[in-house]
Amino acid sequence: MSELKKALAQAADALAIPLDEEQLNRFDLYYNLLVDWNSRMNLTAITAPEEVALKHFADSLLLLKAAELPQNGRLADVGTGAGFPAVPIGIVRRDLHLVLVDSLNKRVGFLKELCAVLKLHADCLHGRAEDLGKTGLREMQDVVTARAVAHLRTLSEYCLPFVKVGGLFAALKGPEMEEELREAEGAIAILGGKLEEICRFELPDGSRRTILRIRKISQTPTKYPRTPAKISKSPLG
Ligand code: SAM
Repeated sequence: MSELKKALAQAADALAIPLDEEQLNRFDLYYNLLVDWNSRMNLTAITAPEEVALKHFADSLLLLKAAELPQNGRLADVGTGAGFPAVPIGIVRRDLHLVLVDSLNKRVGFLKELCAVLKLHADCLHGRAEDLGKTGLREMQDVVTARAVAHLRTLSEYCLPFVKVGGLFAALKGPEMEEELREAEGAIAILGGKLEEICRFELPDGSRRTILRIRKISQTPTKYPRTPAKISKSPLG
């Protein structure tokens, strides 16, 4: 068994997320493609198999424990980079339709190849969330997620416009997010969201993670998302 599969099987066991042999093989393919492309472009600073298994794959899979993902539903990942967290979720939940968004076209090239190799249902879209949030994708996604993209008040303006009313925005954050959450409360309300639950996890190496479940309770006013310049000049709060 490869180092990657061994480490991931252990981590998934510890987190009570069952993975079968076929899924582990797909994660192995993902790992090999990631390391290969990473030698030509910047996708990740983490490349050792044990670290990728824990800090990218297992970390992403925590979303399975924090968010209900409806059968055949649509999961959008804003600023997905090399595919985290949505692609690991898509490996386990092959019924889902993934919408992978990133503003860096080179990364979207990687995602297209990755999704073809893994045979995932996915749209890999090059663009900024601020622009794509005004297209036909708006208020059409069951769940929207993001990891390591922006402060929560900005991230909410990127993500909440995509979520259908009744759907979920699941923000992956580190352990200390209370202040960030406080600063984002006003933005979440303006954008039609409501904090539902703070889900806390511990990875097998002892590092702590938080996933914020934010329910979309009403439509996002059409003036959001604003332009990138306006968002950075006067973040909602
Ligand atoms: N989510 C991945 C992860 O956790 O490994 C990537 C995180 S990386 C630090 C941030 C990514 O968000 C980059 O790939 C960047 O191109 C993308 N990004 C930043 N701002 C964005 C925006 N406004 N719209 C779309 N993508 C954005």
